Amino acid sequence: MKQDNSLNIFNNFNNPQILAHFITKKNNKDINKVLSSKFNSFSLKENILIIPMQKHTTNVILSNSAGVFDECDGAFTMNPKIVCSIKVADCMPIYFAHQNKTVYGIIHAGWRGLIKGIIKKTAILLKSSKFNLKNFDIIIGPSIQNCCFEIGIDVADKFPKTYLKLKKNRKYQVNLQNIALDYLIKVGFLKEAIHVAPDCTFCMEDNYWSYRRSQGTTDRMIGLIGFRTFIKN
Ligand SMILES: [Zn+2]
Repeated sequence: MKQDNSLNIFNNFNNPQILAHFITKKNNKDINKVLSSKFNSFSLKENILIIPMQKHTTNVILSNSAGVFDECDGAFTMNPKIVCSIKVADCMPIYFAHQNKTVYGIIHAGWRGLIKGIIKKTAILLKSSKFNLKNFDIIIGPSIQNCCFEIGIDVADKFPKTYLKLKKNRKYQVNLQNIALDYLIKVGFLKEAIHVAPDCTFCMEDNYWSYRRSQGTTDRMIGLIGFRTFIKN
């Protein structure tokens, strides 16, 4: 996992044109400012962004034009002038980029979306567009890790038992990144092409917002993926 901490840019993509960025607490506190103005390495203007209105659904779109999309939790594009975005605070931002074709995207996978099948829906979308899943590089970005993701029996019941670990306090520990990794491999992506960021958003308070740590914050990090051609400097 190569991560430039000052810029939060991931360098794991074989396609040299791809820029994957994670805007954190350190970069900018005002999410609306970020999404509506020029920012950092991306020339971010709303007219180049795909912004999903996330609802913990399994809906993933493929769009070659920018805009705000209702009831969706992931977006892909084949248009190199478009930047895909997602907002998270504990949930996993999962970045995808084809190694040699112009198609990339990002999905929002929390425990709900994961269980409901957002990874399978992503695979179906890409396959129906005639892309080979084995040609994609994937990054599971900073998110809440099993050190801090603790659930009660009501939520634990929804997970396959093999992913649960019962703790002394009678709560369950779940490793969401391992579940995502397994699901990605199961639907046809290559294990060696998937990278998992080690950072826990709950533990690392200086860097990240955490929905759980702050008991329902509205602050979010932003995952972005686009083409370097559209970097400002
Ligand atoms: Zn943690």
